[in-house]
Amino acid sequence: MSNKKTNDKGPELFAEYPNLYDGISGSDMDACMAFAEDYKSFLDSSKTEREFTENAIEAASSLGFVDIESKKKLKAGDKVYASIKDKGLILAVIGKKDVSEGFNILGAHVDSPRLDLKPNPIYEDNEAVYFKTHYYGGIKKYQWTTIPLAIHGVIYTRDGAKHKITVGEDDSDPIFYITDLLPHLDKENKKASEIVTGEELNLVIGGMPINGKKKDESVKEAYKANILKLLHDKYGIVEKDFVTGELEVVPAFKARDLGFDRAFIAGYGHDDRVCAYPALMALLDQEKPAKTCVTMLTDKEEIGSYANSGAQSVLYENFLMEIVAKTGDGSLDMLKYRKVIAASRMLSTDVSTAYDPKYPSVYEKRNTAFMSHGIKLEKYTGARGKSGSSEATGDFVSEVTRVFEKNSIPWQTGELGKVDAGGGGTISAYMAKYGMSVLDAGVPVWSMHAPYEVISKIDLYYTYLAYKAFIENI
Ligand code: MN
Ligand code: MN
Repeated sequence: MSNKKTNDKGPELFAEYPNLYDGISGSDMDACMAFAEDYKSFLDSSKTEREFTENAIEAASSLGFVDIESKKKLKAGDKVYASIKDKGLILAVIGKKDVSEGFNILGAHVDSPRLDLKPNPIYEDNEAVYFKTHYYGGIKKYQWTTIPLAIHGVIYTRDGAKHKITVGEDDSDPIFYITDLLPHLDKENKKASEIVTGEELNLVIGGMPINGKKKDESVKEAYKANILKLLHDKYGIVEKDFVTGELEVVPAFKARDLGFDRAFIAGYGHDDRVCAYPALMALLDQEKPAKTCVTMLTDKEEIGSYANSGAQSVLYENFLMEIVAKTGDGSLDMLKYRKVIAASRMLSTDVSTAYDPKYPSVYEKRNTAFMSHGIKLEKYTGARGKSGSSEATGDFVSEVTRVFEKNSIPWQTGELGKVDAGGGGTISAYMAKYGMSVLDAGVPVWSMHAPYEVISKIDLYYTYLAYKAFIENI
């Protein structure tokens, strides 16, 4: 990237972060488009954290990855993983160097904003049947009305059997729907946050009475009874079983190319699968890396990374401990483990916002990422005076950018938005507290947390190359 403004032979005085489609070679364009096709199909089959985890294990297993439990000893080139309660995953390829030099880690999350069913969700009102929901993560609630919705997840019957449910994805499936008020009667001028309330995010799931029982006064709630019967016939579940359900309402859309030139992809759950997917692929590419490479795909990031599957769960740590033990004599030296972690380096691979020219008022243009300008490095996140941020050290930012530049990886930088406009966080803090060097680095997104988000294919492709360059060279 030359300094076109002075065109001298001296140092590049001005920073330039060009659009990566500008001047792209034919072979890079082909590789970028091919990577985008694979990503779209993975995205369509991985709309929940469970589905992403299952599909990632399948992809890894086909390349020789095995459950770490099955290995007594680990040596260079071994490929292992641990499922984190079926909702998160951590994988590693053992490197040639001793683990005391630290792990090279990519950490993404595989949960996305959505609507979860309440534990007692089903009710009938005026001959329509509904599921009550409780939204998961930060959403603009009105965006979830009047779009086709699907239900994905698991539920357990009283015998303990697990039933997988996916309805709304196949073209022949029914979909589900949240109504909105017609404009003719919507004159109240409510604030966006009040257009639809949490208690109004109720999903229409039916509207027929149970066969022939309509006039039978002994059947109460004939419409609800009809849905319960259908569910019982198909899955064997009864109303009380919903308490066990992990049923997630997600958009029924498929990921699609966006624009005449197909520069972008619109899809549900780019946050954070657009980082999780390249982080997984970069790891799956490894055969016998120098240092041990790890990809962690965590759950519950959108609601604070708690629970036994969130990034704060020690289950992820247990896996890293197991590597330290099994690459050694099998026993765990706690001080040695802590030092390995402190010597480790991680990219917290989460999305950030891209500058949206339609809404310039919330961005500070000198410190924001732009669509199609490559992976966004965010030295700190947080809100209102960097609060809650896990700030990367300058020397680690220097280390990462030097690796990127040596490997011809374009990058850009920025904050989320204007200083007083708001903020957010990622999983970086949970790893940094062990002394690990962590930097946030991910794909810029338009309409983040909307049911249908937008990313640029060229950002996705170069982010994959960036993650690969990081774990192979840092
Ligand atoms: Mn995220
Ligand atoms: Mn998010």
